[in-house]
Amino acid sequence: MKTKILVSACLMGFKVRYNGSEKQAIEETLARWQREGRLVIHCPELAAGLPVPRLPAEISGGNGMDVMQGAARIRESDGTDVTEHYQLAAWLALRTAQEADCRAALLTDGSPTCGSRAIYDGSFRGQRQPGMGVAAALLARHGITVFSEQELPALVAWINARDAG
Ligand code: SF4
Repeated sequence: MKTKILVSACLMGFKVRYNGSEKQAIEETLARWQREGRLVIHCPELAAGLPVPRLPAEISGGNGMDVMQGAARIRESDGTDVTEHYQLAAWLALRTAQEADCRAALLTDGSPTCGSRAIYDGSFRGQRQPGMGVAAALLARHGITVFSEQELPALVAWINARDAG
């Protein structure tokens, strides 16, 4: 069976960043994966009922797994504590991935939900720091291999290796 991939909904349309010469090949790969039914397109925050538009939110006092364990909070830029909404978003992403039997996830970096390599530091000053958002952390904790959009070539290689195996 072909390996399935959970994909951040906001990445689709292939508005993703990567290096020039790889762009065409990767766009074609994503389009092929979509035709093959491998992509499970999901927005955890919308699934959890958060509105569009919504205020930016950042993790305060830790990373995504800290939030899931109740040791850090997520606040919007006006100070509203939205931790429980984001915890729900993470659980819904995991449930969606597990129900579809996704083995990998391709997620938008920097988000308090989907960030996998970097998140903002909670100051709302545009400062990034290494860390995962809530959904990325929960997916990784449950054995789903997470890639950021900057790691598309690595994901392509990972999928090709699984397909060949
Ligand atoms: S990065 Fe935000 S908007 Fe994009 S899919 Fe994740 S939760 Fe939704």
